[in-house]
Amino acid sequence: PIILSQTHFTQQEDLTYPFEERGLQFGDGVYEVIRIYDGTYYLLAEHVDRLFRSAEAIKIVLPFSKKEITDLLLNLLDKNGMDSDGIVYMQATRGSAPRTHAFPSETEANVYAYIRDMPCKTDDLSKGVSTITERDTRWENCYIKSLNLLPNVLAKQAAQESNSYEAIFHRDGIVTECSSSNIFLIKNGNIYTHPATKRILHGCVRMRIEQFAANLQIPFIEEAFSTADMAMADELFLSSTTSEVMPIIEVDNKTIANGKPGSITRKIQKAYVQDAALSKVR
Ligand code: PLP
Repeated sequence: PIILSQTHFTQQEDLTYPFEERGLQFGDGVYEVIRIYDGTYYLLAEHVDRLFRSAEAIKIVLPFSKKEITDLLLNLLDKNGMDSDGIVYMQATRGSAPRTHAFPSETEANVYAYIRDMPCKTDDLSKGVSTITERDTRWENCYIKSLNLLPNVLAKQAAQESNSYEAIFHRDGIVTECSSSNIFLIKNGNIYTHPATKRILHGCVRMRIEQFAANLQIPFIEEAFSTADMAMADELFLSSTTSEVMPIIEVDNKTIANGKPGSITRKIQKAYVQDAALSKVR
């Protein structure tokens, strides 16, 4: 495979990382994951915007403009002859320098991006998934897509160990988001989700769901709900680049509603599929 390293293309085997690299030693960097359908990016501009917002929030200067990285990422697809479903993973760190906490004075950001195949999770999308709840022990700046993912890693592992798909984070019983996705509750025909504060990642799919809801005339209410509210929900679903619009049918071994994906979830899923299909011809 051909990968992007800084602003040029190289063979994946040729990329080496110094061990005094701030991404490795401090998690001092940010990243993005962008969906590819049939060899075309979905929500590319939104992800590039968020990469710049994340980098700026931690004072990393990226070695390209938004236009330049967009062109480089498009080129990456061509160079790999990518024509199936997958993702691009991209990260930018503060660079390499002798280890000391404060920013080194003369390093440049280290950037790389590579493509991976990833088929749609058709079976889960159709049946829905089980989840567990976990305390949200993360820092206060979860809107930054930072490389520091230890709480997310531990939560996802706990989910996996209880045969669940995802871990739902809560702070003192108030649900924020999941370990790698946003979460939505449906009650009496309204969609509720945590407001886009610094406590959650502002998901690119979440942003589109707000649009889909507007088009479908379903009220989209940015109001946090509790773990107790989930037990009484009509429907629950989560969203992310890799999980799309995923129905939740179980939380902590308790069935949600009748244990089947609900009708509003299905409408949002349908809108997502249409939107993704449209973006291919755009
Ligand atoms: N929340 C967290 C913590 C995430 O890691 C992600 C990433 O997938 C999301 C939410 C969803 O964001 P997006 O829709 O941009 O993939």
